[in-house]
Amino acid sequence: MATKNKEAIFESAKQGVLYAGNLIVGADPCQSAIVNTTPIDNSVIGKIDDASENHVNQAVTSARACFNNGTWKDKHPAERKKIMQAWSNLMKEHAEELAALDCIDAGKPISECINTDIPATLDTFDWYAEAIDKVFGKVAPTDNNVVSWIVKEPIGVVGAVLPWNFPAQMFAWKVAPALIMGNSVIVKPAELTSLSAYRMIELAYEAGVPQDALQMVCGRGEVVGAAIGKHMDIDMVSFTGSTEVGRLFLQYSAQSNLKEIVLECGGKSPQIVFEDAVIDENMINNILSAAFWNMSENCSCGSRLLVHSSKKQLLLEKLVAGLSDWKMGDPRQDNVALGPMIEQAHFEKVVRYLEITKSEGASLVAGGNIHIGMGSGWYIEPTIFDNVTADMTLFKEEIFGPILAVTTFDSDDEAIRLANDSSYGLAASFYTQNLKRALNVASQIQAGTVSINGFSEGDITTPFGGYKQSGFGGRDNGLEALEQYCQTKTIWTIS
Ligand code: NAD
Repeated sequence: MATKNKEAIFESAKQGVLYAGNLIVGADPCQSAIVNTTPIDNSVIGKIDDASENHVNQAVTSARACFNNGTWKDKHPAERKKIMQAWSNLMKEHAEELAALDCIDAGKPISECINTDIPATLDTFDWYAEAIDKVFGKVAPTDNNVVSWIVKEPIGVVGAVLPWNFPAQMFAWKVAPALIMGNSVIVKPAELTSLSAYRMIELAYEAGVPQDALQMVCGRGEVVGAAIGKHMDIDMVSFTGSTEVGRLFLQYSAQSNLKEIVLECGGKSPQIVFEDAVIDENMINNILSAAFWNMSENCSCGSRLLVHSSKKQLLLEKLVAGLSDWKMGDPRQDNVALGPMIEQAHFEKVVRYLEITKSEGASLVAGGNIHIGMGSGWYIEPTIFDNVTADMTLFKEEIFGPILAVTTFDSDDEAIRLANDSSYGLAASFYTQNLKRALNVASQIQAGTVSINGFSEGDITTPFGGYKQSGFGGRDNGLEALEQYCQTKTIWTIS
């Protein structure tokens, strides 16, 4: 398949012909479509299939047949590895095209898509492809007359239900580990961002992934997502999205076949600046990235800044100055760091949070404006509110938009208490020069990823997921992710 550069994708978007559809073996064509608009200027860029429960049933029938007949799972691991590597190589050839699809579909800055999202997506596929023939079972220390193998078997038919904020990357986080374990995978991308998933699966088929081992059902969460969650013949669902919808998947499981559920959900992550921290350019860049990267539509967004009272004034001055590097505008332009909110409804939700925060008495330090001459897209300036207290809405709720809450503290205990005062526990970062304090704080913070003197979600080698209501049942990334996608069997052999 010919590669397309970003200009070709942007041109197709202008003509309204971009399409993402069902990829289901032998299924009925989809009779209805969802109009797909870009948040950049709210124009129509194409359409996606609006699948029904019946399409999910058809995908599961093929996925189960594939699993039972072993076309994918019983291939020699070296053979599966070659196919996964060929797929990754094809995606590398199409990297600019995939980046442009995420940019136009989600309004993400093209520079981010090219330099971060797609390289991270490719790393994920490369890493798991390489792992295929390096993961194997154990022998237990039993009596001499017994050999007991503990083996890992693929779990069966996997549903991967994805969010819209990192379309290509979240696809990779689920699909790569699920496939390498030998499962049959059914992907349900977010209805707002299905384009890159569709293209990546087309490339998977070109590389040799059997079509019934990797299928896609496009459409609405309450139809397709729910049908996946409730299906009696899906063995597990790996979900990334809001805590609210994550809860539904636990209910779907309870109401159907007790399928395994792994949830990666929301967050309200703290960033802490202690009194001994060095306020330099590196710290300012890290704090602003944690707060505003990806328009703050980021589960691990560092949306609560806890600062020692002695450091607040200087820190705020530097943060406000640093915002001048965060150019907002049309995300198709290379020098833009912030694009629009994903859609009108989400934009309006974030604007409501701006109003609530003002009415609750926080002090606006920077930003707070909307639209600012960007045409009809859904743009909100990066915004900082000071004097946010723990009882305010902004302190408690995940906004998923560019509003940073600043709260002061006077002791380490107070900082830790404030940091943990959340129903979420996905990530945290803090700044100190004191090793003893660093070790103490790192061990007391309730979060799946804690970064010291910087902001990071880790990389593909490290597990990612949340404490408390940020997650459930497992981790993405690293070898830990493979646990989601397999069952453990004991084979007890008596001589
Ligand atoms: P969402 O929960 O609205 O949707 C996620 C997926 O669930 C979509 O595919 C959607 O179609 C589907 N869905 C929606 N309603 C459904 C229903 N009733 N039944 C079944 N499926 C349904 O989330 P979103 O708005 O796409 O993404 C934003 C959220 O994702 C934020 O809360 C963010 O924190 C979270 N997130 C978490 C991580 C992580 O790794 N922890 C990563 C990225 C995003």
